[in-house]
Amino acid sequence: RSMSSVNIPPPECMLRPLELPPRYLFGPGPSNVPPRVLAAASRPIIGHMHPEMYEIMNDIKKGIQYAFQTDNNMTIAMSASGHAAMECAVFNVVEPGESVLITVNGIWGERVAEIAERIGANVHKLVKAPGGCYTNKEIEQAIEKHKPVLFFLAHGESSAGLCHPVDGIGDICRKHNCLFLVDTVASLGAAPIFMDKQKIDILYTGSQKALNAPPGTAPISFNEIACNKMFNRKTKPVSYLFDMRHLSNYWGCDGKPMREYHHTGPVSGFFALRESLAILAEKGLEESWRKHKEVSAYFCKGIEDLGLKLFIPDKDLRLPSVTTISIPEGYEWREMLTYIMKNHQMEMTGGLGPSIGMVMRIGLMGYNCEKTNADKALHALADALKNCKKSKA
Ligand code: PMP
Repeated sequence: RSMSSVNIPPPECMLRPLELPPRYLFGPGPSNVPPRVLAAASRPIIGHMHPEMYEIMNDIKKGIQYAFQTDNNMTIAMSASGHAAMECAVFNVVEPGESVLITVNGIWGERVAEIAERIGANVHKLVKAPGGCYTNKEIEQAIEKHKPVLFFLAHGESSAGLCHPVDGIGDICRKHNCLFLVDTVASLGAAPIFMDKQKIDILYTGSQKALNAPPGTAPISFNEIACNKMFNRKTKPVSYLFDMRHLSNYWGCDGKPMREYHHTGPVSGFFALRESLAILAEKGLEESWRKHKEVSAYFCKGIEDLGLKLFIPDKDLRLPSVTTISIPEGYEWREMLTYIMKNHQMEMTGGLGPSIGMVMRIGLMGYNCEKTNADKALHALADALKNCKKSKA
């Protein structure tokens, strides 16, 4: 037996092939990825700084501008998941000691508040129970009181299943010289959002929800007002990787003739993102919104027919991509979800952050947004209701 110079042997698991179960991804994300997007991701890669790659990034930029309904030049995709966009927004426009105002009606406000706290911002939270809505008057009063440089709202609050109205808030923010930051990770492509018309200063989303690309890239856009703030700051943003001075150059948004090396972007992830944005452009935003609304209404009706209660009572405030159901009496939500996964190969999830123990969440997004899938999910839920009733209690 020959002596080996390595004392850690090759792991047993690495000598077995990759195995993946077929799975219905009916949770709040990631969603199933259509074959066309998978095919794009599996193309041979090219260099991250090749001219053809820059063309693809330019296409992505146009695709995002369409999806966001914005003319903003400063429109890019982060080389990481939705959290990167959250951090990018806050890190670049907020300096230590500045006041920010954050609505917390689910986990996403909590997260953004924590991100802002970490850079030493003066964080003010407007807290409501999960799924709570804010009136424009409440928002304006809080802005007058705290004089924030940034106001955060989740358009699609996926931990609560809420689609929060946005109209009028941009005007309030502008009047008070405050940037309006909106999270559409869970809602983009599923519910209407108009970045420019609604005077949203910074908007971001994720790749893995209604866009149906794999997780790992996150579109974000800044308007002129946000650019003015972030490019005239006194301190450098805390993150090198997320510094928009560098990212704007990498994405060809800074007007300079040359793009310099900053980091190696996820080439395959950008192929996939481009393809998912192409599908959205072909289908059309309005059709995508219509479809989500139709399937969501159909699914909600089916939920109620099963005797279950929808967590968001007002149907106009329900997030079309992620439906939240109140945990039915006499059931343990974890047991139901495990049962559904085991017997139906279907992912549904529980609550998140403050909504844990309050809701079960079912996502039918983009490619998965079909009545046939709603029927499959309803069938699985009906089966779980029949078989998971608590004998204890
Ligand atoms: N915001 C919302 C509304 C989300 O639903 C999610 C993902 N669940 C995120 C932000 C964070 O995105 P990611 O998991 O891609 O970092």
